[in-house]
Amino acid sequence: MSSEGASSSSFEKRRIGQVLITCPVTSEAIYTGVDMDSQEFEHTAFNMTVKCVRCGDQHDLNKTGAWLRHRPVNPSSSPV
Ligand SMILES: [Zn+2]
Repeated sequence: MSSEGASSSSFEKRRIGQVLITCPVTSEAIYTGVDMDSQEFEHTAFNMTVKCVRCGDQHDLNKTGAWLRHRPVNPSSSPV
């Protein structure tokens, strides 16, 4: 029996996620305002500062402190 059902079509849907960092003051995750997919995230060298919505200070956005959070898929419903 040959099982080639899950062959790699190499055409994956690139999901956009939110780039988050952790506020060093409140230790809460904050959204940096940057959206990108995981491939772009891997190849992006972040070099910017973000105004924190938690403490109001400016934090460095760099690769080591940032991560990507994917939003759940919301089919054609936009809660305003
Ligand atoms: Zn902060």
